[in-house]
Amino acid sequence: MIGTHASRYWRLEAPEPTPPDEICSCTQPQDLKLQYSLGFNPIHCMVCNLEVRPSVLQFSGVLAEALQKWNTLRGALETLWLDSGEYEAWASSQLVNPGGWVNTLGRQLAKDLRAFRPTYYNLFMGSQSPRDFHCPICEVKMARYADGDLEQLVCLGCWLVMFPDEVCLPPPGGLR
Ligand SMILES: [Zn+2]
Ligand SMILES: [Zn+2]
Repeated sequence: MIGTHASRYWRLEAPEPTPPDEICSCTQPQDLKLQYSLGFNPIHCMVCNLEVRPSVLQFSGVLAEALQKWNTLRGALETLWLDSGEYEAWASSQLVNPGGWVNTLGRQLAKDLRAFRPTYYNLFMGSQSPRDFHCPICEVKMARYADGDLEQLVCLGCWLVMFPDEVCLPPPGGLR
């Protein structure tokens, strides 16, 4: 995205729609994941990692509103964490706690989305990412998700997906 913004003030301007090349175009309907990625739509494809248009899934306005609320809460915690100030430790503890409110809500929303397609929930790992990862909820050893180029670990029982190597996944197209 670097260089595509005419103004140095783009951060203060209304965002543009997600570009088409950052939207899932997989030929088959793939599994989904609820994953915060700095944008407005947290619904992503498990295989290509790109955004899945909500209109493809045809869920209710009530669910759309709940997803927007979750995305905002999740983003707020990320902002507090990245600010590296007074709130950093608290925000990090909220993000990594699978039983914390933002993750409880997110897991419920992933469950709601499973009425439309299998949907995982991307739990933030922070800096604690041993390769041999066990599910932080049920403690079963997580399995590698079979499809796609990304290395992703999933707990099939808890519908969790985690990245073993990444503290924070940059948005599609990289950080701008
Ligand atoms: Zn896809
Ligand atoms: Zn589990």
